[in-house]
Order: sequence, then C-alpha cells, then structure tokens
Amino acid sequence: MNSLEEVRQGILGAVPAPRVASVYRTDALGLVLSSAVIATEDVPPFANTAMDGYAVRAADTVTATDDTPVRLRVVADLAAGYVAGVEVGVGEAIRIMTGAPMPKGADAILMVERTEREGADGVLIKARATTGDHIRAAGGDVVAGQEVFDVGTVLGPAHLGVLSSLGIEQVDVFERLRVGVLSTGDELREGAVALGPGQIRDSNRPMLLAMVEESGCEAIDLGITRDDEARLTEIFESALASCDVLVTSGGVSVGDYDVVKAVLDQLGVLRWWQVAIKPAKPLAFGLLRGVPVFGLPGNPVSSHVSFELFARPALKQMMGHRECFRREVQAVTEGPMPRRSDGKTHFDRVCVRYDDGQFFVMRSGAQASNALAAMAIANGLAILPDGDGCAVGDPVRVMLLY
Ligand code: AMP
Ligand code: MG
Repeated sequence: MNSLEEVRQGILGAVPAPRVASVYRTDALGLVLSSAVIATEDVPPFANTAMDGYAVRAADTVTATDDTPVRLRVVADLAAGYVAGVEVGVGEAIRIMTGAPMPKGADAILMVERTEREGADGVLIKARATTGDHIRAAGGDVVAGQEVFDVGTVLGPAHLGVLSSLGIEQVDVFERLRVGVLSTGDELREGAVALGPGQIRDSNRPMLLAMVEESGCEAIDLGITRDDEARLTEIFESALASCDVLVTSGGVSVGDYDVVKAVLDQLGVLRWWQVAIKPAKPLAFGLLRGVPVFGLPGNPVSSHVSFELFARPALKQMMGHRECFRREVQAVTEGPMPRRSDGKTHFDRVCVRYDDGQFFVMRSGAQASNALAAMAIANGLAILPDGDGCAVGDPVRVMLLY
C-alpha cells in the first residue's frame, strides 16, 4: 500500500501547470487572477453625499441647535444621478439624496433627521455641521492607478462588483478546467426507470458532476458506459480531445470485470495505487495524452472521499489556487468512533459542530463504503490514524467539508 501523502504528492507533481486566459467578468466567478488588476478610474468617481439631507455651508450652521435653529433657503432638490444646476450660496441649502454629487459651494451635509422643512422654500437647521460631514470623497474606495487585486486573488462576488464599478469587463485568470465525468458498470441505470434484476441507479455521476462544479470547474457529463472495452476506448478517445481532466468511477479495483483498468492501460501510462486509507483504497491516476485521468473507485462513498482527497486539490492547483486543501481542525470526539487496526488511515464521515471555541464530531451514520446517505449528512471527515479509534472525549483531527 502507498501512503496518502505519497500518492497525493505524486498526483500534484504530475498535473499540468495552470493555463492563462482572458475571460469576461461575467464568467470569472471563482477563478484566480493571473495578472493584477489596476484601477483606471476613481471609485466613487466624484464626491457625493452619504446621507439624505441638506448640502450646506458649514459656516452658516455654527450657531444652529435644536432650540436655536438656523433658517436656510432651499434653492434646489437633487437626486442621485443628477448634477445641481445652481451653487449653494451664503444662507442657502440644497435638498440632497444619498449618492448625489456634492453641489458647488456646499462643504458639508446635514442629515435630514436634524432638520425641519419650513414653508415652501425654507429649512430649519437644528445642528451644527462640520466641514466634510457625510461627504464621500472621489476615490474614497479605489483610487485610479491603484493595484486593487493582486495575482492569486480568487474572484468572489464582491470582486466582480468592484471590477464592474471600475468598468473592467475582462480579466486575466487561470483557465477554468473542463472536467469530464463518466460512470462505468453494466449494473448502472439512469433516472426513474424500473430497475431490472441486479441493477442499481447511477449515483456517482450526478454526485461527481456536482463536486466538479463545486470545485469551480466546468463539468462535462460523459454518461454511463457499460463494462465493454471497445465502447470505453471510444468514449475515452473522444473525451481526451474535449476535456482538460477526466474523472471516472468504477472498474478500478481487482475484480474480473474491471475493464476501465485494462482500457486505460492500453491508452497510456496510468499508475494504479492501493492507498493506505479507508474508504477509497484503489485509485488510478495518470496522464493520457497530457490529460490527467482520475479513476475513482465505484463505491459511492469511496468515490466521494477519493475525489475530495485527490481530485479536488489537483483541480484547484491546476486552476492556480494557492490554497488547494480543505481546512483541518482539531476536534473533540462526542460519540465513540471505534475501528480496527489494518494499516490504514480511516476517514470517518462525521457531523461537525462548533460551540464556544471548540469543534465537536460524531459519526453521521453507517460507515460502509456504499452508505452515501451518511456521507451526505456529514460535513467533515474525521481522520483516524491506524489503531483502535477514538473514545468519547478524545481529540481527533477533522477535515472540514465546508
Ligand atoms: P467497482 O469499483 O466497479 O467494482 O464497483 C464497486 C461497487 O460500486 C459496486 O457495488 C458497484 O455496483 C458500485 N458502483 C459502481 N459505480 C457506481 C455508480 N456510478 N453509482 C452507484 N454505485 C456504483
Ligand atoms: Mg464496476
């Protein structure tokens, strides 16, 4: 058996480097910048008011209090999106809405709550304004020429908002990978059809397609293939031309019908690992014509865990992420997690909760490698080193799946 670290390093050392591409901002969510973003404009582009209220000359309000208000003449009404046609002169004010540009002559905003309308053209100012009050300066958020985001930034929703506020429509990123997902097995059926004897529904492919998307890649559905060498070869041949990475499930253990193994061996150099972990002991990995292929085990939980431990970090690395691994934390065992010594590290499906500065874990259900429901409920994998497991109250390391 090979150690988890040995296999993981083997994979991460073999996958191709990230490729650079220029993409539209609208396609950039989750991608990593390959060039820094430099602002070409100020944000906001002009000084404006942060409050609904009155644009005033601070000097006019020096004596204003609740009991001794100052009366100013309102010379205009200004909404966001418009520019005042008049200046604020001595003894004057402009009624102004949040986001509207500062009118000439005014040097402060008095919030509407500290005023009272008087007559058709008057306002009573009931508090003293200080120069600069409630004014958002031009460039207060971002200044033209500034490096806003550096190389390696993962673009999230707020980044896309900032790019948009700067009028930046395209960015240089590490390309999003196209990842093909294929299920193999004569027993597999798709959808709500009546199952024949010995048949089961394909659960790995929908799960792995979703995991691929959740990893920030484009998922390509390659369907189900029977355990037929000729058909498998055909599918692989065409997928290798259109995908950056292939993920298959099933057919990689040591059974007589594990034809995926046979076909991949013919197409290129694959490594067949027996990883010292449970679940997900068998794994095939290699480059076929430069395309990384992950041959994951067929049991659904094994497929899931194998993707988490090997495929996800590799996909992240290939897309330029600096952080490719899930967060691991120390937790306290809340329910017993016994195991037998077998030379493997066990990844138990657990529910993790955080309470008062401390993580707690408990098995989420059955730990069999086909018990996908317990995997679905879990939000962590407890890492149990070889031995007899954990008793209640024992410390345990957990990989967080969120
Ligand atoms: P294999 O690795 O092909 O020997 O499959 C191991 C176990 O996983 C068998 O019980 C298969 O029926 C099951 N299996 C394989 N592929 C899938 C799949 N796509 N969805 C659900 N179960 C599967
Ligand atoms: Mg099979």
